[in-house]
Amino acid sequence: MCGIFGYVGKRNNAAEIVLEGLKNLEYRGYDSWGVVVEGGEGLTVEKKVGKIGEAKVSLPSSNVGLGHTRWATHGGVSVENAHPHLDCTKTLAVVHNGIVENFSKLRKELKKHEFVSETDTEVIVHLVEDLIQTKTLSEALREAFRKIVGLNAVVSLKGNQLVVARNGSPLVLGLGEGEFFVSSDASAILPHTKEVVFLEDNQAAVLDAGGIKVLDLSSGQEIRLKAQKLDWKSEQANLGQYPHFMIKEIYEQPKVIENIVKTSEKQVEELADLIQRSYGTFLVGCGTAAHAALVGQYLFSRVARRHVNFNVGSEFGYLEHFLTPKSLVLALSQSGETIDIIDSIKNAQNKGARVASLTNVLGSTLYRMSDYKILLGAGPEKSVCATKSFTAKIALLFLLSFALGGRKREGKEVLEQTLKEVKRLLREENVKAVEKLADKIKDKEHLYIVGRGLSYPVSLEAALKVKEVSYIHAEGFAGGELKHGVIALIEKGTPCVVFAPRDETYGAIISGAMEMKARGGYIIGISFEDHEVFDNWLKVEDTGDGSAVTNSVVGQLLAYFLAVKRGCDPDKPRNLAKSVTVK
Ligand code: GLU
Repeated sequence: MCGIFGYVGKRNNAAEIVLEGLKNLEYRGYDSWGVVVEGGEGLTVEKKVGKIGEAKVSLPSSNVGLGHTRWATHGGVSVENAHPHLDCTKTLAVVHNGIVENFSKLRKELKKHEFVSETDTEVIVHLVEDLIQTKTLSEALREAFRKIVGLNAVVSLKGNQLVVARNGSPLVLGLGEGEFFVSSDASAILPHTKEVVFLEDNQAAVLDAGGIKVLDLSSGQEIRLKAQKLDWKSEQANLGQYPHFMIKEIYEQPKVIENIVKTSEKQVEELADLIQRSYGTFLVGCGTAAHAALVGQYLFSRVARRHVNFNVGSEFGYLEHFLTPKSLVLALSQSGETIDIIDSIKNAQNKGARVASLTNVLGSTLYRMSDYKILLGAGPEKSVCATKSFTAKIALLFLLSFALGGRKREGKEVLEQTLKEVKRLLREENVKAVEKLADKIKDKEHLYIVGRGLSYPVSLEAALKVKEVSYIHAEGFAGGELKHGVIALIEKGTPCVVFAPRDETYGAIISGAMEMKARGGYIIGISFEDHEVFDNWLKVEDTGDGSAVTNSVVGQLLAYFLAVKRGCDPDKPRNLAKSVTVK
């Protein structure tokens, strides 16, 4: 979940380069951090609890360095538990992403070593320390890695060399001119080079000033380097004129949709064909991607008259018994590393099912494992909470459902209309209206959001955004469920957001709004026209099924302003990490 960044090469300010790298990984979420360099007279380490912010490190000049942002799994958040971890001789450093599942057994076996942290990671350092007595760093790390159980990525530093290994947790290598990088995330390498190698599971690599060698983890045999060129622009990964990535990424949505309308036709047709030919399609995702998948289920039903099964990624494993070689699993994941998705598609593939995916990261695990894939093309998404990647998934599912329903042209037209409306919603006066609303309700403890049909997953997503970044308790509900329990929670002044687009849900959702108002609810209507039941009305023009996108944008803006007005940092919500790579 956390971040790794390593450097080796011609520049001698490795510490600063590594620190910059870690700053670029901050968005992933972490609780402590550390950097180590080899300064000629042994290793020097600096570790801190909390955020990097404006921190500087005072480490000696060096041509090789390694850093880590930790999201604690084993052992509390403390300087001792922060990575890098050193061996007893203080000549070997290790950082690690993931969980060593057999760490307590290994720790017992290594009891002659002095353990200074409570982490599972430290067993790796001492394992390598023992093995290195008779082996090279590369041999020792590979052997140690084979002894640990779980989904892990490890990077070690000794002398002027970095040796890395992965199984189930991402590592990307960067090929610069006379300098080489390793990171858990390609976007941190982007400021230095676009030439990258995505390490595969059960591969290791050795990096030194002379270059990079990729090796098979077990045999040690060298594997030919397969470099790829990142198509992201490095300015996409910077804040530019915006105060936060979340708002920057909200504003990038028209571009993302435009790009999808222009470039995805052929791929959408091919995937629609694959869905057509399969017996049973399963849409899976986690968190925001789950909500996109649920939007997909509604779209496929109403637009293409096609039944697809929606599932939350972490639950899919318990419901896969009926998959056959004729089934298709369509997996949605921004990072392409979400462990619950990777696990469930592995199981699906074991049953012979085909896997297609919508992901934002070229070379990610999901991307590589899928039989058919479409890249979202949303560019780096740095805010922990997903906005533009959500819209991109919906735009693709939208085109897919129309293609499947034989209404390709109409799909494109509706999406173009939607794009226009998103641009209008992002005009200053409309954004201000949402900000004003946020000001009004920012001190409330609870917020209820309701929608029906296509607006039901939109309500779930809006509530998730509000929870993630503002910490207000927000719940999204299917409008029809109000009378089955939720209405008991409405009291005088409770803010209730009602999505009321011009579709078949309008009459029923307005009745629900009336019922909430009768109990004292403060009704916020998000609709194409005002209604007497609304205490506050935010206008969203009618774009037919495009409401799934337009209404979501309003939800994102509301969440953003609630966070800012409550003094929360929307880009780094507490306890959350960008890509969830541990179970
Ligand atoms: N399990 C390790 C720890 O708790 C690594 C956690 C991470 O991936 O940041 O230190």
